[in-house]
Amino acid sequence: LTRQGTRPEVTLTHCPYCSLQCGISLTSRGGPVTLEPQDDFPTNLGGLCSKGWTAASLLDHPQRLLAPLVREVRGDRTSPLRPATWDEALGQVVDAITATQAAYGRDGVGCFGGGGLTNEKAYAFGKFARVALGTAMIDYNGRFCMSSAATASNKAFGIDRGLPFPLLDVARAETVLLVGSNPAATMPPAMQHLDAGRAAGATHVVVDPRRTPTAAGAALHLAPLPGTDLALANGLLHLAVREGLVDEQYVATRTTGFAPVRAAVGAYWPDRVERITGVSVADLRRTLEVLTSARSAMILTARGAEQHSSGTDTASAWINLALALGLPGREFSGYGTVTGQGNGQGGREHGQKADQLPGYRRLADPADRAHVAAVWGIDPDELPEPGLSAFEMLDRLGTPGGVRTLLLLASNVVVSAPDVNRVRERLGALDFLCVSDIFCSESAELADVVLPCAQWAEEEGTMTNLEGRVIRRRQALPPPEGVHDDLWVMKALADRLGRGAYFSADPAEVFAELRRASAGGVADYSGITYDRIDAEQGVFWPCPATPEGQPDHPGTPRLFADSFPTPDGRARFVRVEHHDPAERPDAAYPYVLTTGRLMAQYQSGTQTRRVPAPSQSSVQPEAQLHPDLARRLGIGTADIVRLSTRRGAAAFRARVTDEIRADTVFVPFHWGGASAANALTNPALDPSSKMPAFKVCAVAVERIGAP
Ligand code: SF4
Repeated sequence: LTRQGTRPEVTLTHCPYCSLQCGISLTSRGGPVTLEPQDDFPTNLGGLCSKGWTAASLLDHPQRLLAPLVREVRGDRTSPLRPATWDEALGQVVDAITATQAAYGRDGVGCFGGGGLTNEKAYAFGKFARVALGTAMIDYNGRFCMSSAATASNKAFGIDRGLPFPLLDVARAETVLLVGSNPAATMPPAMQHLDAGRAAGATHVVVDPRRTPTAAGAALHLAPLPGTDLALANGLLHLAVREGLVDEQYVATRTTGFAPVRAAVGAYWPDRVERITGVSVADLRRTLEVLTSARSAMILTARGAEQHSSGTDTASAWINLALALGLPGREFSGYGTVTGQGNGQGGREHGQKADQLPGYRRLADPADRAHVAAVWGIDPDELPEPGLSAFEMLDRLGTPGGVRTLLLLASNVVVSAPDVNRVRERLGALDFLCVSDIFCSESAELADVVLPCAQWAEEEGTMTNLEGRVIRRRQALPPPEGVHDDLWVMKALADRLGRGAYFSADPAEVFAELRRASAGGVADYSGITYDRIDAEQGVFWPCPATPEGQPDHPGTPRLFADSFPTPDGRARFVRVEHHDPAERPDAAYPYVLTTGRLMAQYQSGTQTRRVPAPSQSSVQPEAQLHPDLARRLGIGTADIVRLSTRRGAAAFRARVTDEIRADTVFVPFHWGGASAANALTNPALDPSSKMPAFKVCAVAVERIGAP
């Protein structure tokens, strides 16, 4: 690296990738930036995974975008991209916005954000859509990540904070039930908390159709058929009711709505649950025993349970079980969801979601609209109504009534959305596409204008990790010449649109405004300051300022000890029933496909696939098949197999392993092109959260080549 650091030689910041937000110490003395884990940051305690260790190689990567790109022939996306000045590139974006809104109205322009944006950028993007563009059309890729658990948590608890307790509490829980979560691969430093618990005698149960490294280390591994977790949870609650293991006093004093749930789970007899899920009655009983015999127990779900067309109901079923056992609010106990993206939590709190305003306020609520409009200095009537969710917006691009000009930040939807062949087709139907990214991602390759943006170690801001801990992202060195951060871009565009007075490019100013906008909301940041974060290793929201505006509140590491933030202070049971997934195997597509992550790659792989270190670059897309299935189909390890679904096909190298159910095939989703797992996935949406059914669809498998 040749750029001089602008800050002290050692900068404490956080990994650019997942929601664990491991503490990192960067040293930059004008030579190569070196990177070390922070020993005392509570989530990683000196640990990093291979992604974190190699993150500095992104900073001066040879493929880094260092200037805006526009098309050689303006308006012709088949012509090559060429470097341009910022003035020319932003001019084209503003021309497109203006022409589109003149022809199609304000909602003709859409914004699509990401769960990796800092809180400041997520906040500014939501405001940019509503104030600079006046469009209702904004959503983000977190809709594909956390939305089901968020919706279920809001229904039950009146709040959505991934973990309602610090991660360190996981080491103190006597029982941990992990559902569709594989931290040994997705966030390995988190395993030290689970390992510490096990060393102290804790019992861990993992629910996953694969025997992942996390499952292999657990006392009990349940491997249900993908898409049947809800029945499993209802079956456990059925047993708890029948065997008198419900915490009746807790249910009576701290919850509402148990009677219809008790009635509903009456139909989930263990043998019926075994037929639906494939989990034996004995394992059901053993799971309930370890949950109810412990003084402290946690139920943690992740995307395996949530990325379904019934994802919200599935999360609700696990929450119902946790409530019936009296866990939320009990010491070292409760329900939580393990957020995935780096700012998956903060990304959904500050207004880049179609239905939300900052502070987790609701766009449909008149009081919430009035509060935020006052902070923004606009009339509440200027605020649009809620717009379309992420896939709904993508699915209608370029159609009558759909978005015609799209601004895409920090998201590579051509790889990460479901049914990417459809998404690519819809992007092609746009009048104009602008993408901001570090690299020329698969989505950026389709754009009219590509804007090069600053990345993690080059910017200031805050992130909110999986615990709800608000932390600082600190700048160690300036962006390369010609590169700007997205706050600067939004301000520059707003200036050109005549709305620049409403925007700032200074993250500290944006955070100060975010604090005011969130004050009194569910996700209240008003008592959090950069100085406090520096002094306290982060601050947990909610953290309201005093009525005089003083940041004296200690923050809230643990929620629900005394009450829930619902109108009556009680948690709410939600009656839910098992339904078959949106797509079931049949004669044409006889197997179940499920998707997930590998340790070496992060999300769409835009960053990690470019890291030259062998720990990342040697990892290729493989399809995992059980030996019985492989034998039946004449497939051996390393053969090339084609997977086909009703939406498309993709090719993978086969890995034959008994770590997966015999009726299920697993593929990682980090690649596009010929090995795009999301060419296969089903965009059937959960009716409440609008989460696509990434985790289950019907698939056909055939061998097409030798190693
Ligand atoms: Fe930590 Fe996640 Fe980064 Fe790995 S990817 S170092 S687990 S924050």
